[in-house]
Amino acid sequence: MAPRLEINLDAIRHNATGLVARLGKRGIRVIGVTKALMAWPQLARVLIESGVSGLGDSRVENLERLRRNRFTVPLMMIRSPMLSQANAAVNACDVTLNTELSVLSALSAAATRNERPHAVVLMVELGDLREGIAIDEVVDAARCVTRMPGLVLAGIGTNLGCQSGVVPDQHKMDELSGLADDVESACGLRLESVSGGNSGSLGWALSTTDVGRVDELRLGEAILLGLDPLTRLPINGLRQDGFQLIAEVIEMKTKPTRPWGAIAQTAFGPVATVKDEVEAGETRRRAILALGRQDIDPDGLTAPAGVIIRGASSDHLVIEVGDHELIVGDELSFGLNYGALLRAATSPFVTKVATSA
Ligand SMILES: *Cc1c(COP(=O)(O)O)cnc(C)c1O
Repeated sequence: MAPRLEINLDAIRHNATGLVARLGKRGIRVIGVTKALMAWPQLARVLIESGVSGLGDSRVENLERLRRNRFTVPLMMIRSPMLSQANAAVNACDVTLNTELSVLSALSAAATRNERPHAVVLMVELGDLREGIAIDEVVDAARCVTRMPGLVLAGIGTNLGCQSGVVPDQHKMDELSGLADDVESACGLRLESVSGGNSGSLGWALSTTDVGRVDELRLGEAILLGLDPLTRLPINGLRQDGFQLIAEVIEMKTKPTRPWGAIAQTAFGPVATVKDEVEAGETRRRAILALGRQDIDPDGLTAPAGVIIRGASSDHLVIEVGDHELIVGDELSFGLNYGALLRAATSPFVTKVATSA
């Protein structure tokens, strides 16, 4: 069946168990993040078997999917719930990341109404300019949460490296640890977790001599792709062969290298500049694969050696095949970066297939 995403569960298990062990030695637990695969239950199962302390996802629908599978670990929503989703969030998961008092009030009301205590982690803005409460407002927000019925202030956290590429370094992590102390003395309680970020925090966590108060990371990309998102370089000891995307050839022809006729915009905007020099009058062997922007980000695919991706519209991926002997009906496999993986794994047209080895 094509297109299909082949997911090597052994590679993912290797990465997850390795990271759980290495971080465990430093007193840091791992929340396994499932959002890139839309909370695919087979991924969740492998993560739990690998020793994660909880599962995290950004969407209520995905968390509901995890809930239906009755996994034993706590479920964390790693994006602020929408105000309109407070009730669904309280039912779908055990803990949410939060930054807005209006949402917290709604969660408090929902938790009380459903008689289902809900844990809250307050996210702190440390400079990446995505989600987070300003540093000097965190203690007040924490005090507010402790007064809200139905809610338990479980921790504070941060997320760096996503919006602006800000590096989670010792200084940022020390700031977070200091805030944890401040919140505890102001509120007279002990925080269960200080959540030090995503896969981008691994470089720091695995090399620092002082993790401070940080005792949790929320990991997706490092487990799935074995890459450090700050550099996109392989992480020592992890596997990078977890995923392959397989697509099928639907046209195979020799065509001129240059289009002809008057040229206007393409389906997706102005014509991309031609990447290499081609002589007018030359021809190339071109294939079309039944795959498109609905299913992948063409810039995030790695083609087999000798194959050049020439472009993609909604449903057609156009390649030059070089010396590859391909005929209609043949399959070709591609590597994926995080963006392409996210899109492939969330396209209803791409089948997920578990593999091993
Ligand atoms: C997506 C996300 C993560 C996981 O990020 P990776 O880089 O895939 O490890 C963690 N925390 C938050 C808040 C996220 O949105």
